[in-house]
Amino acid sequence: MAKCGKCNVILTRAPNVTHARCGKCNLLFHLECVGLTPADWSTLKDLNKAWFCNACNKEMRVARTDSTPASPAPTKVVTSGGEMSTLNEVLKAIQNNTSALNNFIESQKVQNADILKSLDDCHTSIQENTTTVNVLQSDSQ
Ligand SMILES: [Zn+2]
Ligand SMILES: [Zn+2]
Repeated sequence: MAKCGKCNVILTRAPNVTHARCGKCNLLFHLECVGLTPADWSTLKDLNKAWFCNACNKEMRVARTDSTPASPAPTKVVTSGGEMSTLNEVLKAIQNNTSALNNFIESQKVQNADILKSLDDCHTSIQENTTTVNVLQSDSQ
């Protein structure tokens, strides 16, 4: 009779259903002894994924850090960093556009002030001319 690799109690239930088998050392474990639920185990089976006991996991983790230091995690960070810089570039472009728009509005204000000033000048000239005409008219009478 097989015994649980953790608690050493004989496994009386059918294997592969309520017991986890390590894909490396081939030992059987009570699911509850290795922190798995029957749902976890059936999911692993469905995905055709090998499960490894704590001891084997630790062993492989050490081996993995020795041989392949590049885990998928840093790639993910780089991707999100790229997205962030793209976002920053878009923001910068918007800021540039906004300041260009502000410059345009400012120049329009200056032009409007110029137009108002020349309009004022026109009014003054018209008033002067009117006065002159009035004077000339009263002179000729
Ligand atoms: Zn056990
Ligand atoms: Zn194992």
